[in-house]
Amino acid sequence: MKPAMDGVRPAPAVLVVEDEPHMQFLLTENLELEGYTVRSAETGEAALHELSRRAFDVALVDVMLPRMSGFEVCREVRARGLRLPLIMLTARSEESDRVIGLDLGADDYVAKPFSVRELLARVRAQLRRTAVQPDSREEFVFGDVRVHVGHRLVTRRGHRVEMPTREFELLQYLLAHRGEVVSRDQLLRDVWGYSQVVVTRTVDNFVAKLRLHLEPKPHDPRYLITVHGSGYQLVA
Ligand code: CA
Repeated sequence: MKPAMDGVRPAPAVLVVEDEPHMQFLLTENLELEGYTVRSAETGEAALHELSRRAFDVALVDVMLPRMSGFEVCREVRARGLRLPLIMLTARSEESDRVIGLDLGADDYVAKPFSVRELLARVRAQLRRTAVQPDSREEFVFGDVRVHVGHRLVTRRGHRVEMPTREFELLQYLLAHRGEVVSRDQLLRDVWGYSQVVVTRTVDNFVAKLRLHLEPKPHDPRYLITVHGSGYQLVA
């Protein structure tokens, strides 16, 4: 897998949405030191304005913003169809907050106070996850199943298969790595972005659901194979 910054791609663009000047400075300074292009917004409204003007690779969104909260920003970003990874920042570490954020379409969640190193690792994880997505114009066929990545469309014998976002992202990741053996840890890191609420068994459950959609005989998989002791392999 290529690192996010290999000198060929332009520096990834990060939007920092944070109203506290000290925190905004700390984040901007450290992200710039890592080589990212950083823009900041102090309110949710300003963040949405920035997002409508230029493309970002990832956004860090403080939950506690004046007027429009980080949760509302998150909801609005998804309502506009923007797919960039969103990492929520909050002073509160309650699980309910984390669950709300993830339900509204956030990709990860970091509780304040956090270490800058940890935050940078989360940013890298999100960039890795999106950098390996296959060409969005590509179409993949497994037996009677067709996957159109750009349209996020999966059909089986011509009928649309409804697939929750995370399940589709797992499929997208496996397609980008088809033929490779990918470990559960790799899937947790790149598809779920180290999210604390996820355990290894979650990966297995999602794989089982994908098999129901893709496999002629889900209990005797032909395309999404378990590689004993290593992980999974998509063969097509
Ligand atoms: Ca704040």
